[in-house]
Amino acid sequence: MFSPARAWREYPQRYRLEAAKCTECSKILYPPRLVCPACGGRTFTPEILPREGKVVTFTVIRVPPAGFTEQTPLPLALVELANGVRLMVQIGDVENPETLEIGMPVRLEFRRISWDGEAGVIFYGHKAVRAGS
Ligand SMILES: [Zn+2]
Repeated sequence: MFSPARAWREYPQRYRLEAAKCTECSKILYPPRLVCPACGGRTFTPEILPREGKVVTFTVIRVPPAGFTEQTPLPLALVELANGVRLMVQIGDVENPETLEIGMPVRLEFRRISWDGEAGVIFYGHKAVRAGS
């Protein structure tokens, strides 16, 4: 269920790719959390994530969830950024999913992700697009 309050709270992280770096053990958390899962630390400094990364693994969803029906097939990738942080993102600008490959260099770009036609709500977030093309 869509929650405007939740979406708003998450907006800075989603928009700016802002992570939290633990001041105790230097682990970088994305999305940020209140407690570091590595050391239990509770103090963090903001860390802007790099936009460059590579595809660790990916999957192509052929029966998409509501809101994504116009984007079938829908490729999702686990991307490892230049600093080692991994996140799950949609891959954009894919004409042929057969051309996707593990290790493919990508860049994160801010794009429209989906929308709820009935509520008129548009969701934005980061998509990975093939780098250097
Ligand atoms: Zn820590």
